Amino acid sequence: MQQMTALLRQKYIPGDNMRVEILNAPIDCLSMDQCIYRVAELIKAGGAHRVITLNPEILYRAVQFDHSLLELINRADLVTADGEGIVWAGRVAGTPFPERVTGIDLMLCLVERAAAEGWKIYLLGAAPGVAEEAAGKLANRFPKLQVAGTLHGYFKPDEEVSIVQSIKQKAPQLLFVALGAPAQEKWIDRHIEDIGQVVAIGVGGSFDVISGRVGRAPQWMRKLKIEWLGRLISEPSRWRRILVLPKFAWLVLKTYRFGQK
Ligand code: UDP
Repeated sequence: MQQMTALLRQKYIPGDNMRVEILNAPIDCLSMDQCIYRVAELIKAGGAHRVITLNPEILYRAVQFDHSLLELINRADLVTADGEGIVWAGRVAGTPFPERVTGIDLMLCLVERAAAEGWKIYLLGAAPGVAEEAAGKLANRFPKLQVAGTLHGYFKPDEEVSIVQSIKQKAPQLLFVALGAPAQEKWIDRHIEDIGQVVAIGVGGSFDVISGRVGRAPQWMRKLKIEWLGRLISEPSRWRRILVLPKFAWLVLKTYRFGQK
């Protein structure tokens, strides 16, 4: 595994175009290590940068119904293959991804790096108290971590300007936004230029998991790549969302195997 990681790192030439297109959406062909490297480059470069962890549900929605979402994905500075469905689509399209890079794993790796580099983080989203709890857990795990601030995700639209100003003032290098997809990607897109110098990443339900309020699927399920099944069992209300997976799979097969859309 270490050898593999070293090989992938070697192959990554900063600035090189490692992007592929799946169903008209750009996705970066990068391992987790390479994604961290890329984010570090974006922070060093300064300015406002968007990161999207793209799962099949969002991609399907963007391609089939929401063109503004597809445009937004095309504007992102880094798009990761979030989930086995996207990794599978990459194989079918003949452009395999080195591995899946999920929102929560990317967040945890970035937070570890942030603690080492002295980057400040800000957590925005989830129910009142959750972002704070998650930040507390992270600070326990990484004692050097600097948390610039936290705020829950149940604010009113007319509060957004002051929230943006407050984040800007606290000047985090990394902004994690947990409002659920695609609301968080749209929120980031609307406000990131006003925040200015930041790398912003939508991370879905990650704060709920990091705070310990929601359990993550057990390791064996993750190994078998059926984490989605674990989530479905613990939150049965998600079943509707799972229905999109066969539709996504059919669209990928139609496009790349049978040559029609
Ligand atoms: N959330 C929020 N504000 C809202 C709606 C949702 O902060 O107006 C939070 C919610 O509390 C949860 C996260 O967004 O922590 C969504 O988690 P989910 O697992 O549904 O993310 P998804 O898989 O949809 O990206």
